[in-house]
Amino acid sequence: MPDRKPSKYTDMLHLITPSKGLNVLSLDPYVAEGRLAMPYRYFPGPIATRFFLELRDNQRIMGIRCPTCGIVYVPPESTCGTCFEKLEEWVEVGNRGVLQSYTVTHYTLPVHPDHTPIIYGLVKLDGADTGFLHFLGEVENGALRIGIKMEAVFREERVGNILDIKYFRPASS
Ligand SMILES: [Zn+2]
Repeated sequence: MPDRKPSKYTDMLHLITPSKGLNVLSLDPYVAEGRLAMPYRYFPGPIATRFFLELRDNQRIMGIRCPTCGIVYVPPESTCGTCFEKLEEWVEVGNRGVLQSYTVTHYTLPVHPDHTPIIYGLVKLDGADTGFLHFLGEVENGALRIGIKMEAVFREERVGNILDIKYFRPASS
């Protein structure tokens, strides 16, 4: 092993009491600094492309079924996460589903795609076996409960991305 140069962290080594079997080699951190902000174009691949075009052109939410274990993935995947089967069987799922979980975000970060507070929810659509993570909207105070029925609200102007679904709202009965 090459000799390490002393660094500002080296004299902190005595502060560490490694547990039995743990050998502390160095406290030198690996630091990567940078700033990324660039225009880009992204090819989502054939599976996500079809999914987005169905949202944009037909306001349909499509899933994909595993031929081996039968799991219907929404959003669709190219490979089954359970049995690694290649997935090709498209199925339309409902615009409604059951709320599995949710959280409310009150702080603002540049990566957040909307103004706060943002409600994120996991909705298992009718005919799907996986939860679909998206925004929740039109929610009255205290109206959210795990297990309530939600429905997709599509944007008038759709462009072929995940935000063509504006959000899921509590379903009218
Ligand atoms: Zn499978």
